[in-house]
Amino acid sequence: MARADTLARARTLDRPELAYLMRFPTADGVRDLELTWAELARDTEWATARLREHGLAAGQRALLTASGFEGFWGHAVIGALRALKVPYGIAEAMGWDHRRTAVFHRELTPHAVIGLSAETLEGLAGMTDIGEMFRSTPVVLARPTAVPVLRGVGVTASVISAVGPALALECPERSGAHVNGAEWRFGERDGQLTVAAGEGRTSPLPETPLGITGRVVVSRCGCGSDNPRVLLAEAN
Ligand SMILES: [Zn+2]
Repeated sequence: MARADTLARARTLDRPELAYLMRFPTADGVRDLELTWAELARDTEWATARLREHGLAAGQRALLTASGFEGFWGHAVIGALRALKVPYGIAEAMGWDHRRTAVFHRELTPHAVIGLSAETLEGLAGMTDIGEMFRSTPVVLARPTAVPVLRGVGVTASVISAVGPALALECPERSGAHVNGAEWRFGERDGQLTVAAGEGRTSPLPETPLGITGRVVVSRCGCGSDNPRVLLAEAN
C-alpha cells in the first residue's frame, strides 16, 4: 500500500486521549499524572500567550534547552514556537551537551534562549564568557538555579520552571513566574508550594506538597495578568 494511503487510513483510527504520563517529584515521592491531548493543547495555548508577551514573533529564531523526559512542558513550548512561527533549535539541558548550546547560539543568533540550566552555564563558563554570550540575547528564560548566575554577570533573565505538573513562566515584569490558574491551584504550606489539579483536568490531583520552597502571589501583576505567580526561593 502506498504511504499516502496508509496515512489516510491511520487518520480515521481512534486516537487515544492520553498524550503523556507526567512524572514529577513531590514532598512524599514521585507522582504520575496523565496528560491528555486536549490538556496539552490548552497548555500550548497558554505558553504561546506567555512567549508572545516576551515579544516573540514570526521571523525570529529560538534555542530551547530541555531534556526528553521534560516533554510534558517542552512539547507545549515547542507547540508555542510553531504557533508563533519561530524556528528553533533544541539542545539537551544536561551539562554534557553545553557545546551544542554554544553552536546553536552562534549559528542561530536566537532572539530567545528558553530553558537554560545551571549545568549548561557551568559547562559554557569553562569555554566562554557567559555574560558576553547572553547579554546580547533579547529574551533569556532560565531555570531557577541558573537565574542568579545569569543576573550575576549582567544578563536579564526571566524564570521558566516546571513546578510539579505545571509550567511556570515569568513575564517581562520579572516579579514571579506565572502559572495557569485556570488549570492548577497553587498554595503554600509552611513555606513550601502545594498544587492541586483544577476541575478541568482529567486526572484528579488533590492538594499535594511539592517540597519546593516558595511563595504564591495572587495579586494582579504589573503585566495586567491575574494569573497567580510563584516566587521560587532557588531563583533568588
Ligand atoms: Zn506578569
